[in-house]
Amino acid sequence: MNSFSYTRPSDIGMAVGELAIHEGAQFIAGGTNLLDLMKENVERPNRLVDINRLAMNTIDDTEDGGLRLGALVTNADTAYHPAVESRYPLLSRAILAGASAQLRNMATNGGNLFQRTRCYYFYDLATPCNKREPGSGCGAIHGYNRIHAILGTSDQPPETACIATHPSDLCVALAALDAVVRVTGPTGERTIPFADFHRLPGDEPWRDNTVQPGELVTAIDLPAKGFSDYNAYIKIRDRTSYAFALVSVAVGLEIADNRITEARIALGGVAHKPWRKTEVEAMLVGQNLSEADFQSVAEALLAGAKGYGHNTFKIELAKRAIVRALKQAAKLEPAS
Ligand SMILES: Cc1cc2nc3c(=O)[nH]c(=O)nc-3n(C[C@H](O)[C@H](O)[C@H](O)COP(=O)(O)OP(=O)(O)OC[C@H]3O[C@@H](n4cnc5c(N)ncnc54)[C@H](O)[C@@H]3O)c2cc1C
Ligand code: SF4
Repeated sequence: MNSFSYTRPSDIGMAVGELAIHEGAQFIAGGTNLLDLMKENVERPNRLVDINRLAMNTIDDTEDGGLRLGALVTNADTAYHPAVESRYPLLSRAILAGASAQLRNMATNGGNLFQRTRCYYFYDLATPCNKREPGSGCGAIHGYNRIHAILGTSDQPPETACIATHPSDLCVALAALDAVVRVTGPTGERTIPFADFHRLPGDEPWRDNTVQPGELVTAIDLPAKGFSDYNAYIKIRDRTSYAFALVSVAVGLEIADNRITEARIALGGVAHKPWRKTEVEAMLVGQNLSEADFQSVAEALLAGAKGYGHNTFKIELAKRAIVRALKQAAKLEPAS
């Protein structure tokens, strides 16, 4: 363990200021990811800025009929909040499919957005990993890649390759709901649409997201539309608890007179960020439920998918999960 200093500021300005003046400092919230990474020597902050005393721990209605989730509200308190349960059940389901009860009691909404990949090689300092050590190569492409990405990957040149996935469940639901992330940083406040928050590896696989150095996530805004009548979250994993998604699917539908009037589909476990294609979602609009072609939608969402050996099974798995999630959201099948 490397030595580090510790501070616990009481207001947001002080917390942001800490990162501005201390190069190598990092925020810590629930610590459920950062502390593991520090113990493994993957992350080596020289100063921890504990944000747990900042006023970012409430869930409030917004003027436009939506809901603002404070960055410090725990995953458990979010999932069981009456407004989330009734207006955004998709979000509750996704959160409760993740981790364990104990972890959800500590893990915060803000921290969940920043959790690092679960790629084995990222955690193993004896192997090359462009995300951990830029330019060193990617141990996963020709290694054991069962949990890795099949969409939006970067597999060449070797010094920028990465086929890691983002492991979150919460983020898959936030992507489907078109959430907006609120951040405060050295240059002031700004908002980031959820689709732009995480990024594909491209030629900078060491960057997980579009947050700028020193920026603090203060809240996540949910728009008014919560797809509370027709939604589904399916998570396929090796164990039924305490395991990350091999594939997950979040679906929200609006249905009137037996026809789909709006559709959202986000995939987890398949890419460096929650995967959405709005043009594919549009294929469902106007379809009659009794004749809806969910298989074509699944094929279109997986267009261009590429397996790397151990993870090739995910392509068919994802298609089947999409069809099942759409049927469950449309109430053509009972929720699993
Ligand atoms: C065994 C295990 C199983 C898990 N299974 C799942 C699962 O199935 N699904 C799932 O979704 N998650 C899972 N998780 C991940 C867990 O949900 C995350 O570790 C947690 O959400 C991170 O939140 P935290 O508050 O503990 O973050 P921390 O560990 O405190 O911080 C993580 C990172 O976020 C940064 N950070 C934290 N808050 C902010 C903020 N407000 N603004 C800017 N930066 C910030 C920190 O600097 C750090 O880099 C699992 C974790 C473990 C250990
Ligand atoms: S997939 Fe990404 S995180 Fe995993 S070893 Fe390759 S570069 Fe590192």
